[in-house]
Amino acid sequence: MQKFAKRLSLLKPSESMAMAQKAKELQKTMDIIDLTLGQPDFDTPEHIKQAAWRAIRDGKNSYTVSYGIPELREAIAFFYKQYYCARYAPLKEVLVCPGAKQGIMYLMQAFLSPGDEVVLFEPCWLSYADMIFLNEGVPRFIPALENMAPNLNQLESVITSKTKMILINNPVNPSGYVFSQKELAYIVEIAKKHDLLIVSDEIYDRIVFTEFHSLSQFEQARDRSIVVGGFSKNYAMTGWRIAYILAAEEMISKIGLIHQHTATCASSVSQYAALSAITDDQSCVNIMCRIYRERRDLLISLLTSSKFKAIMPEGTFYLMLDCAGVGRNAATPAEFLFNQFGIASVDGIFYGTSSAEYARLSLTCSENVLRKAAARLCGHEEKASL
Ligand code: PMP
Repeated sequence: MQKFAKRLSLLKPSESMAMAQKAKELQKTMDIIDLTLGQPDFDTPEHIKQAAWRAIRDGKNSYTVSYGIPELREAIAFFYKQYYCARYAPLKEVLVCPGAKQGIMYLMQAFLSPGDEVVLFEPCWLSYADMIFLNEGVPRFIPALENMAPNLNQLESVITSKTKMILINNPVNPSGYVFSQKELAYIVEIAKKHDLLIVSDEIYDRIVFTEFHSLSQFEQARDRSIVVGGFSKNYAMTGWRIAYILAAEEMISKIGLIHQHTATCASSVSQYAALSAITDDQSCVNIMCRIYRERRDLLISLLTSSKFKAIMPEGTFYLMLDCAGVGRNAATPAEFLFNQFGIASVDGIFYGTSSAEYARLSLTCSENVLRKAAARLCGHEEKASL
């Protein structure tokens, strides 16, 4: 008997999670610098935790309305109005879900039929392809330019009669690339021309070090755009599993059906915590963003005296390190960094074949740890007791 569904055979375990787990294990006995983590090293800000405690104490422990408590949807819509001048009807065009990952999965379930193609710009977050496979869709990757920027010039050439969706991540995990307004406008134009959906995963939208534009600002494409945002990264709330989807009513009502029948609602306590996050003092977000930026600047400046080139990230808390021509022999970039320097990272190949010569480093550690990593990469410090 064939026990498992055929589509399962296409799934691979998440490499970044596997690498993080391995680094954690090895750290017990070895001097490993772990730069694999895809989550903030900050704790959730105190006032957000207090809001969750209050919600529990006040008995807000039942299922909520499926789309999310109205106060939170109103706060999200208000935030988008203030921040991005984007208008969403809070009760019809906002859906609160248990994490952006889950939200993106809903989208795939709602829009992909077997054989439908999704266009992705490399390098891109590794879970997208697996989610597309799970829904019997086909990812169509556009290789990155040499500097790991998305190659927009190739967008039209990969579109076929089966293309359903263009999926972008802005800013990009792993490169930290931020799409310009002009680039977004071009993607919108092409999507319109070929009658495609555009999904923009903006989960890192507040961790940006340059001007940022959201797809939500393109009112003229509202009927075909879906924005996914969340609290995990911006507010250091990865464990709370809380995010949202913004789209026109017609799309939200269909996506909402999947949500209703699979999750019922996002955690009530997390929703109250998220309400505090988005309505109370925003200085915590700005402080964390400033610290990520300082770490980025520090590592970039320290690496200038190494043989490695780094891609300057304009957002997120990642940095891609070019490991071409550094004498790796047959080792992958992550194997090389691990074996030579005791630095755990994630191989670029998991974000697309065009980033195979790179490793992704996470800046979710103290400046001291980054200094130590840079000293090893520059050959000033030996890896210890490996
Ligand atoms: N999108 C991207 C690009 C991510 O990097 C991640 C988390 N690593 C997610 C979505 C998932 O976010 P959440 O915690 O809200 O599920």
